[in-house]
Amino acid sequence: MNILITGGAGFIGSHTCVALLEAGHSVVVADNLCNSSAAALERVRQITGKELLFYQIDVTAAALVEGIFKKHRFDGVIHFAGLKAVGESVEQPLEYYYNNTVSTMVLAAACRKYGVKRFVFSSSATVYGENEVPFVETMALRPAANPYGRTKAMSEQILSDAARAEPGWAVALLRYFNPVGAHESGLIGEAPTGVPNNLMPYITQVARGKLAKLRIFGDDYPTIDGTGVRDYIHVCDLAEGHLRALEGLRPGVHRYNLGTGRGTSVLQLVKAFEKANGLKLPCEIAARRPGDIAESYADVSKAERELGWKARRDLVQMCRDAWRFEQGAEI
Ligand code: NAD
Ligand code: UDP
Repeated sequence: MNILITGGAGFIGSHTCVALLEAGHSVVVADNLCNSSAAALERVRQITGKELLFYQIDVTAAALVEGIFKKHRFDGVIHFAGLKAVGESVEQPLEYYYNNTVSTMVLAAACRKYGVKRFVFSSSATVYGENEVPFVETMALRPAANPYGRTKAMSEQILSDAARAEPGWAVALLRYFNPVGAHESGLIGEAPTGVPNNLMPYITQVARGKLAKLRIFGDDYPTIDGTGVRDYIHVCDLAEGHLRALEGLRPGVHRYNLGTGRGTSVLQLVKAFEKANGLKLPCEIAARRPGDIAESYADVSKAERELGWKARRDLVQMCRDAWRFEQGAEI
């Protein structure tokens, strides 16, 4: 298949480019590089020994997106491009609503015009919000009360409505849990600009000495040890989930949780990282982070049943690969 990957230079996108190229598909990337670098795509070429095409465009620009659809015949689109920092979304709501929902509409409209029927969308566990764990695809959504979370729920709705009006459309709404780790080559990984918001890149930067210590946001949650519980998933497993979703997609709208089904607390992740890499991390307990929920982990049985996909990599590998990337690449 020939696949358009928006946001393909980013963290999850670059690993998905690798998975698709290795499976024999052709890839065209559209990315404005607002949170990534073209060097990541060079690394993708290096890892796979395969070529991919790259357009540096903003995918909210309908005319530019159409230009690409005119030039190439796509079998499907994977739409990663988006802004993803929760705190920033509260400060810049209009930028988030515009970027994340307009890009989805522009791409869906181009798919309709050019007869592209497969659409895979990057959604998030944040659409479940405060629900009972494990989160199941059939639950009523309670998107986290911030613009970022709402853009994901809105984009899901937009795509669901669009698919209902277009016979033959096949849409996968992939709800990611907490992607971490990096490609085992150490060549691509998560390279946030500025101080990281997410736990794993924060941990690797503390381990590297770039940050003084990890602040653990709350130890009084009703969880195993009082710290927040999340479902960490290796980014290469997540990338393979996209491949399975794309290849196995049937007409209609399908929602899939992509996680491991296991919850890990902040303290458990810190201990796993220390053990996997033979390091000690300076930590302190701090106040809860506003908006955080106590627990989030997936029921993954639907993806396993319908896509034949299951996460294979464990916490040790997530910690080792994240640390290897941190020590090596500056991309
Ligand atoms: P990322 O920032 O590394 O990648 C996103 C890419 O999209 C970047 O390369 C950026 O330059 C590009 N981009 C953003 N807006 C664009 C636009 N208008 N036009 C063209 N390119 C644009 O983020 P990621 O972690 O790889 O996340 C990918 C997707 O998965 C996002 O939609 C994100 O919301 C979603 N997601 C991520 C996580 C996570 O924890 N990383 C969890 C759930 C969902
Ligand atoms: N967390 C933390 N310190 C940090 C960053 C995160 O204690 O510097 C905690 C956070 O409160 C949550 C977990 O780590 O319980 C995962 O946070 P992250 O931002 O990575 O993911 P999300 O909360 O979006 O699922």
